[in-house]
Amino acid sequence: MEKWNLIVDVEKCENCNNCFLSAVDEYAGNEFPGYTAPMPYHGFHLFDIQKKERGQAPMVDVAYVPTTCMHCDDAPCIAAAENGAVTKRDDGIVIIDPVKSKGQKQLVESCPYGAIWWNEELELPQHWIFDAHLLDDGWKEPRCVQSCPTGALTSRKVEDADMARMIKDEGLEELRPDLNTKPRVHYKNLGLYRLCFIGGSVAYEHDGTSDCLEGAQVNLSKDGKPVGSTTTDNYGDFKFDELEGDSGAYEVEISHSGYATKKVEATLGESLFLGDIYLEAP
Ligand code: SF4
Repeated sequence: MEKWNLIVDVEKCENCNNCFLSAVDEYAGNEFPGYTAPMPYHGFHLFDIQKKERGQAPMVDVAYVPTTCMHCDDAPCIAAAENGAVTKRDDGIVIIDPVKSKGQKQLVESCPYGAIWWNEELELPQHWIFDAHLLDDGWKEPRCVQSCPTGALTSRKVEDADMARMIKDEGLEELRPDLNTKPRVHYKNLGLYRLCFIGGSVAYEHDGTSDCLEGAQVNLSKDGKPVGSTTTDNYGDFKFDELEGDSGAYEVEISHSGYATKKVEATLGESLFLGDIYLEAP
């Protein structure tokens, strides 16, 4: 049986909020019997974009992580529901029954991702239903995927065994593996949000002026063991990404023909910009 999955590529999300807006357009004030009751125009974030700023000026980046209902295979909301008000369909989509769930506010608290919203007026818990009503009507993908201009969101309807292979081959991750809910939303490049970098700018002085040093070899090591290597770009910048935060002491070694090799110690807590590093003649 093929089941739905949503893939989120953090590297491609630019915080345009089109996924959120398409969900408002689809569900606010609209009823889809058997799927969901009308949702309010304000207050619901069926797609909630988490943000993380990393580094220090001038080396700063921001990662955006869209979150929504994960359509968990081991869903706490199903366990918390009374009268079978939350069910999982054969295609993997979780549906909160808009009739049976009336008054079941406990469902909001049951979701560890904060993906269930309380409709005060109708006394209903509501979530993003993976656009099941559209997919059942022949749509090939949900509206969030259709409306995402950068390709950060894609959907796949595949056998679980095939999805497991893709997860391994493409390095996809769960947003919160510690929750053990077996989500059907998978993240690519999540390290840009979860992990840290060490970066710097390499320069040299000549005729009383400073200039960027392109093409310098930069090696990163920890406890004497190599971690990575790169070369500086035309701004003299280098960056080692996807390092564990609070992982302690590193050594950065910078070399370039015609200059003395320089070593810099770095202690990684949060993402770290080492500033301008000048190489000098030997
Ligand atoms: Fe239920 Fe929350 Fe999992 Fe969605 S993310 S299936 S609402 S527990």
